[in-house]
Amino acid sequence: LPGFARTLVTPTIRLSRHQRRVYDLQQKRSGMLAWESPDILPVNGWLTRTWGDIALRNPQATPVLLDSSQEEALWEEAIRSVRSDDPLLNVHQTAVAAVTAWDLLHRWEASFTLSDFEGLEDTEAFFGWMTAVKARLTANGWIMSSELYEAVGEHVRNSDVSLAYVGFDDLFPAARRLFSKLKATEEALPFVQNHSLRRYLLHDQPDEWIQAASWARERLSADPAARIGVAIPGLRGVAGTVERIFDDVLHPSYSLGVPQTRRAFELGIGIKFSETPLISAALLILGLADELKLSDALTLLRSPFVRLKRDARLKLDQELRRQGLDTVSVYATSLKAAFPDLAREADAFPKRQSPVRWSATFSALLKSAGWGNGEALSEKEHHALRQWQDLLSRFARLGTVAPSMTLRQALERVGRLASSTVLHLPDEDAPIQIFDLSEASGLRFDALWVSGLDAAAWPRPIQPNPFLPVRLQRELGMPRSSPEREFAQAQRLTEQLKRSAEEVVFSSTAQTRDEKRLVSPLIEHIPLSNGFAPGWQTAHAVFLSGSTTSGKALVERPPDVAPPLPRDIVHLGGTKILENQSACPFKAFAAHRLNARELGEVPFGVSRLERGSVAHDALHHIWTELKDRDTLNSKTLQQIDSLLETAVNAGLEKQLVKRQRSKGIERFRALESARLRRVLLEWLDQERSRPRFTVVQTEVQDEIAIGGMRLNVRADRIDRYDDDSRAILDYKTGNKISKKSWEGERPDALQLPLYAVTHEAGRVSQIAFAKLTSEETKLIPLSVDRAILQNWRRILEGLAEEYLSGHAEVSPKTSATCVLCDLSSVCRIAERNGRDVEDVIGDGADE
Ligand code: SF4
Repeated sequence: LPGFARTLVTPTIRLSRHQRRVYDLQQKRSGMLAWESPDILPVNGWLTRTWGDIALRNPQATPVLLDSSQEEALWEEAIRSVRSDDPLLNVHQTAVAAVTAWDLLHRWEASFTLSDFEGLEDTEAFFGWMTAVKARLTANGWIMSSELYEAVGEHVRNSDVSLAYVGFDDLFPAARRLFSKLKATEEALPFVQNHSLRRYLLHDQPDEWIQAASWARERLSADPAARIGVAIPGLRGVAGTVERIFDDVLHPSYSLGVPQTRRAFELGIGIKFSETPLISAALLILGLADELKLSDALTLLRSPFVRLKRDARLKLDQELRRQGLDTVSVYATSLKAAFPDLAREADAFPKRQSPVRWSATFSALLKSAGWGNGEALSEKEHHALRQWQDLLSRFARLGTVAPSMTLRQALERVGRLASSTVLHLPDEDAPIQIFDLSEASGLRFDALWVSGLDAAAWPRPIQPNPFLPVRLQRELGMPRSSPEREFAQAQRLTEQLKRSAEEVVFSSTAQTRDEKRLVSPLIEHIPLSNGFAPGWQTAHAVFLSGSTTSGKALVERPPDVAPPLPRDIVHLGGTKILENQSACPFKAFAAHRLNARELGEVPFGVSRLERGSVAHDALHHIWTELKDRDTLNSKTLQQIDSLLETAVNAGLEKQLVKRQRSKGIERFRALESARLRRVLLEWLDQERSRPRFTVVQTEVQDEIAIGGMRLNVRADRIDRYDDDSRAILDYKTGNKISKKSWEGERPDALQLPLYAVTHEAGRVSQIAFAKLTSEETKLIPLSVDRAILQNWRRILEGLAEEYLSGHAEVSPKTSATCVLCDLSSVCRIAERNGRDVEDVIGDGADE
């Protein structure tokens, strides 16, 4: 660094790291073997450190600096004290936004009075909170980080420090004043002589990133020592996809499970602390001491960071799913038995205590659940563990502004701290650096790709702070306050970027997910390049297939033929076997012979399956009582109402007996009872006008033989008409039913055709769906004759024969079939077709 001073400050952590790396490289190139570490740090870090030094010299007279969580807590308290009655207000988010507004006021040295904030509800409210916050700061001798520019300036003389600054593209007034007072020197970074400047216009974002990754690989192959930058606006929101694409292109063997020592790229955004598996498990364990959503508890059971045997995990998982509670805690019998130490520890602590005490309690709770013990932790996990201790210390410091809190409040605070903390792993110094465009200022590379420069994103759209008067923001030139400012800023940065590397590529896309985009006017004049970087086609195909770089599936294709089955056994899957065989032979094989099925969603309230069973049970009860249409017609509305109430409640009782009682379930039960009684009342009204019938069978289990196969089946209902012919009914509580389900060579619904062809030959004159939904109740009948019955028999015998012979081909009837199937991870339909599984399912949903 030319003219390098004693301490160098930068606006961002990224630029500090970059400058340190440049300095180290210079020392190496000059032949040095060892050298003193340069003092390079972000300006916020330098201010905090300097304030600490000041406090050490004179602790009594120096205001105490609050950390970010203490600041937020103070704002939250102020907001609650003024707006405690607003149920729609998210206090925490509002406090975070208020901190930003307060920060802007200090950085831009705004002077204002109450009248500037009057006239708008939000700005007036902010002024009120700010007044309350200022009063508490003064009364307690505290100071916030945004006040440090002024405060440090008051305490430090220019002779005390030797300061330089670099990369402050947008130097705000508070920093300018401080730097000028301390006579800090500005280090101008030398620009690079640019030899190649070009632009790409790509179809959409994934195409753009695949192109950037393929280009970076090509550049690195040509010069392994090259330093390559890839700038992506809004990187945090798209980091998952970007990482996958760069892995696919640069590290194909990653997805094949081949270990790599070092990646060629580094995603410079850190990891959200709460999303690291170790910390996520810690938060869930602590949640068990209070109340945890069932789905979260099931996630915890799969974590390697809790001490539980594999069998115990599976049993507990099944038990909790069976109970079907919305929330659970460690006091529930099954969990108490699995985590006895945790339950004991959770019972022991006071219900309200200081953050310092909670901090100790949380450590004890985690220890009692065996968190982090037993599993060998990786380097990253050790790093996370150290950061967790630091997080608990930060939480403990909250006691300064919030002396005591309940368990739930403490858990919320710790959860928020974990969500807002970004875990920066040690610098890996990878040759390809991927970073957010907002951090690009001051960075230098051998080659740089800047993506996402469409007209809607560059210059950035204006977005004034909602808590500050817009006039004030514009007068002071605050960020995002006016289009002119943003245009000038973007123009300046674009010019800098052009001179940040010998080779610079800008790119934009023709469309985003929902809309068409134009290229940014700031790069429109740059010559457009056509064609793709080498390897783009392969990488693109891989991205779409969702598999590996070679485009091949990771596992072998499942066999199309399974061993044949014996003919002398009864198959318990009933008509479903034949329906699945018709839908997709592999589905029948996997579901009925391998017993493969998804674990299933945890039901919220009364599940769809349970609602269907309750309707069946209620109708069985009703027709066992009524027996025929004439009896139905003889009943008064009051009598029918009473019958429905008894039938529906008995059905609910029977189905929900397996679930644990909770307030939530009871509320759903009452709602479902009212809904189903209304649906069945409408249905019975329609039954009144049918030709006279007698119910001869309802919900009776039968054994039926077809095509050499014996099946256990149950007909919902069989009616006898006056001419002694039969009607067979199938109750349906879902919406997607029609006569089409019985048509074609591969019918969807086979229960009624199976009954029709096997029930007392020739007697069946009609089959019908009884549609029983909240939107519609109706009979969907089909008259059957000899020809129809013969055709169905042929189809059914063929399907039975296929199943018995082991025909298990992956062959869905249509792509819509896959939408209703949960076995795509077993049959690998997406890899077979070289497509993304979401696309396969999406196509099916469109059908
Ligand atoms: S997902 Fe589709 S192809 Fe796979 S088993 Fe199910 S229906 Fe068959």
